[in-house]
Amino acid sequence: MWNRKDLVGLKDLSQDQIMEILELAKAMREKIDNKEARKDSLKKFSVLTLFYENSTRTKTSFTMAAEFLGADVNDLGISTSSVKKGESLIDTAKNLDQMGADIMIMRHGMTGAPHLIAKNCRGSVVNAGDGVNEHPTQALLDMFTIHEHKGKFQGLKIVIIGDIKHSRVARSNVFGLTKMGANVVLAGPSTMITSNMKALGADVTSDLNAAVKDADVIIGLRIQLERQKAGMFPDIREYSQLFGINKKLLSLAKDDVIVMHPGPVNRGVEMSTDIIDGDNSLILDQVKNGVAVRMAVIKLLMEGRKNNGITN
Ligand code: ASP
Repeated sequence: MWNRKDLVGLKDLSQDQIMEILELAKAMREKIDNKEARKDSLKKFSVLTLFYENSTRTKTSFTMAAEFLGADVNDLGISTSSVKKGESLIDTAKNLDQMGADIMIMRHGMTGAPHLIAKNCRGSVVNAGDGVNEHPTQALLDMFTIHEHKGKFQGLKIVIIGDIKHSRVARSNVFGLTKMGANVVLAGPSTMITSNMKALGADVTSDLNAAVKDADVIIGLRIQLERQKAGMFPDIREYSQLFGINKKLLSLAKDDVIVMHPGPVNRGVEMSTDIIDGDNSLILDQVKNGVAVRMAVIKLLMEGRKNNGITN
């Protein structure tokens, strides 16, 4: 029985809670293709999106997931809100909470912003990305996609390549995947990896060939230029030559390796076009699975609210 009020990260979720989300997501994915099966299970519930950072996939995916469940969805357009008049994050959230939002989906550039709002609001909070910290639903949809294709996590070699240091996607995946028994290897230029990732249970290396050898899964990451304080590599061309994922690199992995990327992809930088569009790529499947996983998360949080007698 789900009883958590919020989903702010994978760090604190148990194996069972992760599997509960992934199992429910499997059922939810059927509803994406079958309009009749969607129905209005969350009619009269209210979901609010607050995105202080840009988004294409995550925000739309959450919106559609909530709509497929029959919930009312509203978006706080940050650029036209009173945030621009200097209202603090916490005051903004408390005001929106008073309006009766059951679930607030929040993305913010500051680590811990959703955690802060979760503590101060009755509404449930879902972290849709907080700075360089966590992006739990991205990792859950990555895990869903991996499990669907490999049927397990235990013993898989999963390599995450690129700007690890600034990636909330990498951190959430390390928390989730290592918890489920996968071997996670983080690879990239030494300027883009912090060795403290080792303490989280992942292997860390700058030797891309060794990292990819016999890999079951490869996840590419975008260079987070918006979060880098100083130049971390000489130029884009050199980066793609040394750390780009291409056919030659892929040939070192297992034949049935799957290739993933959270998007947005910079074609030809972190991954070559033939890999992005190639047979091993599951990048578009990830997007569809993202809607299913977010439907599951929204549904479970609503159940948790009911189980705990929380109303808004
Ligand atoms: N969409 C992901 C995120 O928001 C990855 C990225 O932006 O590169 O973290």
